[in-house]
Amino acid sequence: MDRLEMRTISKEFGGIAALRQASFSAGGGEVHALMGENGAGKSTMMKILAGAYDHEGGEILIDGIAASIQSPQDAIRKGVSVIYQELSLARHLSVAENILIESFGQTVFVNRRAMNKRAAELLADMGFPDIDPMQEVGDLPIAYQQVVEICKALSRDCSILVLDEPTAVLTTHETAKLFDLVRRLRARGVCVIYISHRLDEIFALCDRVTVLKDGATVGTWETAGLDADRLTSLMIGRDLSDFFPVRDATLGDVALEVRGLNAGPQVQGVSFAVRRGEVLGIGGLVGAGRTETLRAIFGADPVQGGEVQLHGQPVTLRSPGAAVRAGIGLLPEDRKHQGVLLNMPIRVNAVLTPVNPHRGPLGLIRDWAERAQTETLRRELRLKAASIDAEAGTLSGGNQQKVALMKWLVSGCDVLLLDEPTRGVDVGAKVEIYRVINDLAAKGAAIVMVSSEMLELIGMCDRILVMRGGQVTGEVSGPAMTEANIIELAMGAANVH
Ligand code: ADP
Ligand code: MG
Repeated sequence: MDRLEMRTISKEFGGIAALRQASFSAGGGEVHALMGENGAGKSTMMKILAGAYDHEGGEILIDGIAASIQSPQDAIRKGVSVIYQELSLARHLSVAENILIESFGQTVFVNRRAMNKRAAELLADMGFPDIDPMQEVGDLPIAYQQVVEICKALSRDCSILVLDEPTAVLTTHETAKLFDLVRRLRARGVCVIYISHRLDEIFALCDRVTVLKDGATVGTWETAGLDADRLTSLMIGRDLSDFFPVRDATLGDVALEVRGLNAGPQVQGVSFAVRRGEVLGIGGLVGAGRTETLRAIFGADPVQGGEVQLHGQPVTLRSPGAAVRAGIGLLPEDRKHQGVLLNMPIRVNAVLTPVNPHRGPLGLIRDWAERAQTETLRRELRLKAASIDAEAGTLSGGNQQKVALMKWLVSGCDVLLLDEPTRGVDVGAKVEIYRVINDLAAKGAAIVMVSSEMLELIGMCDRILVMRGGQVTGEVSGPAMTEANIIELAMGAANVH
């Protein structure tokens, strides 16, 4: 019997159906992915489970028994906890208070020592002995705040835990720690429902996946029996090959050449060249040195040796500012922290580069020209935003990424370094980002694109370099661009055969 069964759930907002008799079931000791394009109904389904929304039809069964969930309190009593992207902790209370205030009560007579001890035990048990129970929650990194919220759920004996896009705000290292935690919970029999756009995460973590499309259930599959190609087709309802437009690559001169680049342990003697009009991919596993290579070229990290040439001329790029003035742009992996200013309007983000063509001789920005160009880009990029005055932080992940790309379109850079450009972005927005990349290449930019999604590399790139342990282990192009070849180079042949 499944721990959770949601049967034929329907929900309308103002007469528009968000869920149409959607169903799915998940078991205890299972990590179950819920996937679908933006607007497919994933969050609505989970908010109904959490008692935050009511529903117009269908029923929810927990351990086979009909559970009437009318309020968030009902959900908590039934063992359901939902961790939203916007965490709901009290920032000025301590870690222990946040986790345990409900069980210890809110009186002045709380036994703080016992509470701190219990919180420390819970945290250690979850693999985070380094989180101090007495620290104020607001001072913790976002990843640890998430852990505190999960521990709070566990202290209430939750048996169904929902994580709605938890890794969108996490770094790679933090994501790995979260995965360890989720696996621990699975081993204890918790039913974990996991929402993410990242296919690699789904395959690494989840046992089964249910796909929603336009508010209806497409089906449920074992992840072991699926591949990224098939899963994507299920989400978009058509074949992935329609995704990658055939690009008439007319390659020009070499725009960027890197020779024997050394930058810390992660970049050891990296060499490659990329031409105008070319999209060069860099594949490899997490930690292979791909991000570090891009950062070193961009002047964001110190370089110990090697040479960078632009259009045949050696250049020394000691800072990102120098790189941008030389015509290089970088779209960073960690867009929330480096790519966009979330509390600034789109139009400000669009011109956030040292080479703003609208800046007049006195350093004044010619406002009307800037607005006009941002408006044009908004249309070209099909940015879904109320206006260019909207704060970037109010947009979806895919649209934030388009905003991050905008400034490189404004600055007119001719070498663009892209680090995981479609991470955390839904499939619809992915296609639009691919289109922008192709347009830039067609206009003569040289593109270097790091991605962990092999299909994306194969679909987009003219050639793919593969890195491992800070070194380039090989290059594939044409029909040799296959997942098997990339994996072999990424892992080392010894691990493959
Ligand atoms: P997902 O989480 O899969 O991206 P959602 O569940 O957020 O999808 O949204 C499903 C549909 O319901 C979308 O069309 C969305 O616009 C609509 N919707 C979601 N929440 C609300 C709301 N509070 N008011 C009106 N429409 C909503
Ligand atoms: Mg959602």
